[in-house]
Amino acid sequence: MSDETAALDELARRRGFYFQANSAYGGVAGFYVYGPQGATLKANLEEAWRDRFVRREGHQEIESPDIMPEVVFEASGHLAGFDDMILECPECGASHRADHLVEDGTGIEEAESIPPEEVQEIVADRGLTCPSCGAPLSGQPVEEFNLMFGTNIGPGSSSPGYLRPETAQGMFVEFPRLKEYARGQLPFGVAQIGKAYRNEISPRRSLVRVREFTQAELEHFVDPERDEPPIERVADVELPLYPADEQQAEDGGQVTMTVREAVDRGVIGLPWIAYYLGVAKGWYERIGVDMDRFRYRQHLAGERAHYAADCWDAETEVGGNWIEVTGFATRADYDLRKHAEHSGEEFTVFRPYDEPITVERPTVDPDMSYLGPEFGGAAGDVADALERLAETDPDAFEGETVTVEADGESDVVPVEVTGFAVEEVTENGEHVRPHVIEPSFGVGRIVYTVLAHACREDTVDGETRTYLALPPELAPTTVGVFPLMDKDGLGERAREIAADLRRAGLSVAHDESGAIGRRYRRQDEIGTPFCVTVDYDTLDDDTVTVRERDTTAQVRVAADDLAATLASLRAGDLAVDDL
Ligand code: AMP
Repeated sequence: MSDETAALDELARRRGFYFQANSAYGGVAGFYVYGPQGATLKANLEEAWRDRFVRREGHQEIESPDIMPEVVFEASGHLAGFDDMILECPECGASHRADHLVEDGTGIEEAESIPPEEVQEIVADRGLTCPSCGAPLSGQPVEEFNLMFGTNIGPGSSSPGYLRPETAQGMFVEFPRLKEYARGQLPFGVAQIGKAYRNEISPRRSLVRVREFTQAELEHFVDPERDEPPIERVADVELPLYPADEQQAEDGGQVTMTVREAVDRGVIGLPWIAYYLGVAKGWYERIGVDMDRFRYRQHLAGERAHYAADCWDAETEVGGNWIEVTGFATRADYDLRKHAEHSGEEFTVFRPYDEPITVERPTVDPDMSYLGPEFGGAAGDVADALERLAETDPDAFEGETVTVEADGESDVVPVEVTGFAVEEVTENGEHVRPHVIEPSFGVGRIVYTVLAHACREDTVDGETRTYLALPPELAPTTVGVFPLMDKDGLGERAREIAADLRRAGLSVAHDESGAIGRRYRRQDEIGTPFCVTVDYDTLDDDTVTVRERDTTAQVRVAADDLAATLASLRAGDLAVDDL
């Protein structure tokens, strides 16, 4: 663990941001509690996401169940393919992620994209050993391990279910109804913030790889032929890109270009992905991600999920490691097609033509009084086979007889009893299966990044101060209210002011214990952006001191204006300098 991440985990535990769950029972790897500060920070972050990716984009939010029946994951491909590579130590029995062993032990990057047999060879060739007990791992099999947590729905085992490994499936499965709410019109987006569960082989780096985590996912359903993103809104946003070919080149590296350039030069193949990379860049800045420790990395071909046609990850650097915080994938029509095949429901939208068109449609109307006596029990199958043949190969009906395959036999039927005809029909439109653009955010990893990037140290009054430079919008507490001393009515006035601010909807910490400097430090450490001090001048002129966290600058504000001023500062409509 690096110094930065160790210090972060320490601060998080001490100040109530996050800590390992179930510690009374020794703790279980991969499960975390968000403490009082962390839960509020996370809720504020989710609200900022909702604001940007749901409301401002005009999308809809839903909430679907965490547990889904097996058939959903049979269809989605997760049952067969949502695996990581596992390798067990022959000595101590510890399970390891084989690709991580290779990355840590050899410096090879993105070993996830290497096939298991090759990973096994690398483990042997490089003489890799067990990180837990040091035993050699050469010759140990590398196997696929499915990451889904299984359960039974209801008593007995006849109805298996799984905890969803992504929130996305809830949006795909419900597509037939969701499209009704969008009045059957593409494009439209459906979002969800909720829990996802993955039985990770080796959880690590506190919030980064856990077994239960929150995702904020957006599924944008688009017409692949007609819908274009409003790219002009983000055309000039500069993107720090790390494309696949740069990753594979000897001297490759990061390249910076605008959204427009990335699209025009084909660096990002799909304009929709480029659009969301542009939108998301502004959002990461808004929530305090350090842009010098941020990049968009394209997936290598072997690394992509089973459903993804192209994928870029937003990555942040913490403690010397790059963390995938968001995946931007194009799932094309994969999921909707699979659910249509498995459920028999319609997963399409109807796209009307500008003008109705007339098309020729071959049909049959078989004479059952001939087919019945001729083919007996197989007559119905023969009729069905004739209908299929008319659709796929109408020319076959040009001779005196046609041959169809029914029940594994070839049957010859005179054309005159098939009732074959070519009708003219008017069509008003066609059924289109939407493509899906999916930005998928890992909320915990973003909380972790925001905390890491907000950690600062400086010197105030000759002392080292540690503070969290959280954006006011995210800070768990917006304002600390302190009486200079709890006497001469100062304490009472401070309590009144705190109550007023709470009534105005602000998150307030009221603190009257210890020296004023200590009280400032306590708020600095949890990232409270503003502190209000009630002093003797307050009793005279009813003004208070407002102190800003990062600069420690102080201004006096009338108590009457305080709630409105703080609300504007929090919303970013006002800066302390303006006061
Ligand atoms: P994926 O479907 O694997 O692309 O995951 C989508 C997002 O969920 C990732 O970008 C991560 O931010 C987050 N995520 C995936 N797995 C985990 C995990 N084990 N712990 C925490 N966050 C995760």
